[in-house]
Amino acid sequence: MGDPLNAGDDAAEALGMVARAARPYLDALPHLPVRDAAHVHLIEELDGPLPESGDGTMTAVADLLRIGTRAATHSSGPRYFHFVVGGSTPAAQAADWVTSLLDQAAGLWPNSPFAARAESVVLRWLKELLGLPPTHGGVLTPSATFANLTGLACARFWWARRHGVDVTAEGLVGLPRMPVFSSGYVHASSRKALQVLGLGRDTVRTFARDDAGRLDVDALDRELASSGPAVLIGNAGEVNGGDFDPIDEMADLAERHGAWLHVDGAFGLFAAVSPLTAPLVRGVERADSVAADGHKWLNVPYESGFAFVRDASLLGQAFGTWNAPYLPEPDEERVNYNNLGPESSRRARALPIWATLRAYGREGHRAMVERHRSLALRLGRRIAESPDLELLAPVTLFVVCFRYRPPGVAPDTLDDLNRRLGEAIVEDARVYAGTTVYRGVVALRPAIVNWRTTEEDVDLLASVVRELGARLHTP
Ligand SMILES: *Cc1c(COP(=O)(O)O)cnc(C)c1O
Repeated sequence: MGDPLNAGDDAAEALGMVARAARPYLDALPHLPVRDAAHVHLIEELDGPLPESGDGTMTAVADLLRIGTRAATHSSGPRYFHFVVGGSTPAAQAADWVTSLLDQAAGLWPNSPFAARAESVVLRWLKELLGLPPTHGGVLTPSATFANLTGLACARFWWARRHGVDVTAEGLVGLPRMPVFSSGYVHASSRKALQVLGLGRDTVRTFARDDAGRLDVDALDRELASSGPAVLIGNAGEVNGGDFDPIDEMADLAERHGAWLHVDGAFGLFAAVSPLTAPLVRGVERADSVAADGHKWLNVPYESGFAFVRDASLLGQAFGTWNAPYLPEPDEERVNYNNLGPESSRRARALPIWATLRAYGREGHRAMVERHRSLALRLGRRIAESPDLELLAPVTLFVVCFRYRPPGVAPDTLDDLNRRLGEAIVEDARVYAGTTVYRGVVALRPAIVNWRTTEEDVDLLASVVRELGARLHTP
């Protein structure tokens, strides 16, 4: 076969094959086991020697479809509750295909005014949807980890400048350690961002007033009084219990002490979409930088994240390259987004976001947020009513933190029982949920963030947990 120019294959024909496979796959998705044990072995068929002349387009794509539709984790289906993995709305999924069809190099305006303009539009829409000031600068990123990196890179630039150093040009040498403060809710990805930025993963000092990690505002206040310029990380949504830092109070502290407030709102920022949950993120509009994910609660396909920064010029100063930092004006139209974030070449990841907001609007996304919350409350009620289940944290949004606790079981065996239960759930694969350690005990923490999920799916989760728990625990 060899050279694609001479292979005689038709790209449209290959795309047609993918489109034809989509119907049966998507129809089956709500009923497939989340991971199909009978087919997982197919992943071995990916392996083999590097092909010499190649088998041609249709064979390669057909094989990938055959293996993938059977062996992939069906995490975009309605019964995947592990971690916080969003689904993909029909509009976002189709627009993701459009992104591949058009294959734009979306970093530079001269490469694709279309992609750059789409990015500017969706950033504006997202600010409006999430209640952030329209004057904030922003950039799309592959994930919330990169969005945290983006916000914290701007914080680092700001902080170094307070010490008279242009960190973009000169680096950190000679500077003291940057003070970074948070609650016990700080996410591993913020630490990863700090580690990549040369600030050190363990630089974060946490101020917690209980074993869940809730912020000790007074202790933070006292520390800020003597720390000098510091960076606060507020956590809008903690992944284990679903609780929020008091962002408004943190904004007060930042204002009073001249600190930078970065908010990790990977999923929780979307609480702003509904009046029922908006109080959880009150004050986020006062933060200096905000990070969130599109591939979680916005239900666009991987990869999708975004960062917003109050002082729009900082993005260009932290990420501008070639000694010519690009300083966008708020009304700037011809934006080169690769000067405003950690990537250079990048795909047009605005398109799925544009499509889902265009298709469903504020109302559609609000409905989804509210449905997930009510499904989580429903699951919480079922747990509270079940004598063998114990709710470990109040349901705030869509995370339900609980454990299996049949009457009469010795407390010191519960961690082991729940750990084995987590493994059994994954193996069973009718539903998918995993364990964490919350307040020192092993807990399940399903997250309901997929537009396809219904009451039936959530009820099945509760009954599978009880069924498998009873089987493991049989005295
Ligand atoms: C998921 C998550 C992140 C990291 O997001 P990625 O998209 O996986 O990079 C950061 N913070 C919180 C609170 C999260 O839930």
